[in-house]
Amino acid sequence: MASYNLFLLPGDGIGPEIMVELKAILNWFGAAGIASFETESGLVGGAAYDAHGKAISESDMALAQAADSVIFGAVGGPKWADIPYDVRPEAGLLRLRKDLGLFANLRPAICYPALADASALKRELVEGLDILIARELTGGVYFGEPKEIVTLENGEKRAVDTQVYTTHEIERIARVAFDLARTRGGKVHSAEKHNVMKSGVLWKQVVTEVGKGYADVTLEHILADNCAMQLVRRPKQFDVIVCDNLFGDILSDVASMLTGSLGMLPSASLGAPDPVTGKHKSMYEPVHGSAPDIAGKGLANPIAMIGSFAMALRYSLGQIEAADLLDKAIANVLASGLRTKDIAAAGQNAVGTKEMGAAIIKELGSLAR
Ligand code: NAD
Repeated sequence: MASYNLFLLPGDGIGPEIMVELKAILNWFGAAGIASFETESGLVGGAAYDAHGKAISESDMALAQAADSVIFGAVGGPKWADIPYDVRPEAGLLRLRKDLGLFANLRPAICYPALADASALKRELVEGLDILIARELTGGVYFGEPKEIVTLENGEKRAVDTQVYTTHEIERIARVAFDLARTRGGKVHSAEKHNVMKSGVLWKQVVTEVGKGYADVTLEHILADNCAMQLVRRPKQFDVIVCDNLFGDILSDVASMLTGSLGMLPSASLGAPDPVTGKHKSMYEPVHGSAPDIAGKGLANPIAMIGSFAMALRYSLGQIEAADLLDKAIANVLASGLRTKDIAAAGQNAVGTKEMGAAIIKELGSLAR
């Protein structure tokens, strides 16, 4: 039985609650003889700030570097709203992404038929939806320099963020998108704003060049603002969408509302493959935050967390059958009608975090029999 080393960073708010359910899933896979998982846990975000005065410690960074995959819960909350910018909870997440070189963020937006009515859009627009957004994660305007607020001679303030992309940065995320499209619907939409941004002009040129190596994949260029509109107008036209860090942040949040609830959305962040081992660094995390409004109440939906682990099995650990099994267990539990509060219809009985986790494990047992 293959064995993997996972570094778990539960974080703040509902992060630890959903991580408990994931640990039970990891144990199930070991007990079923499918794959075993050695785990270590660390602190990130507000929890790390309370313990060490920073958003992640050096020793936890070292464990993250050494792991086969990092599994991250969520960070942040009102308790840490006023702490210095460089040690705020999100700084832990940004440090992990940067130091592990996680340049590709994959966010699927899948609408389970059982949940089509929970979407903000009409059932016929979203039922069966399966979009994957490949967002560049370590470049662009969130990291570009200069990044500052300066006071001008007249006393007025001036804020600058800088959007920067190099050919190499665009090429590698484009390749991820085309490779993924090959395993799915065979279509890539590249979203940028070449009409008003130089970085968009280069983005379009480079993606076009990379696309020439993928004759079996259809490439369409789309302006990012039109992409946002099309996502709510006719979302099923999309298969893979590739975009920069800023547009990816926004477009993936739009796509998330097509699927019903933030509590359903997993994500993966991948680094470049090591030239010798072929392995890449990776981190898997739910899209949602620490949900302070429901933290500690046992109400959080653990599916985004468990679905993130299914992505780890698929994209980093090479356990495709195990990933299929876990995705099927989630779909079957939803099809059986079980709902946490965030995805329940008005007036419908909802279960808590533990019941949802236990139902998925029970279903895994039935499917594996
Ligand atoms: P949020 O995602 O935490 O919550 C938004 C809404 O969705 C809330 O009503 C919440 O109860 C609900 N929700 C989220 N996840 C859920 C789940 N699994 N099950 C059921 N309901 C769920 O976003 P927010 O309220 O804007 O932010 C709260 C804190 O989280 C802030 O400190 C923010 O900075 C942080 N945050 C962290 C991350 C991250 O760790 N990756 C991402 C976004 C926000």
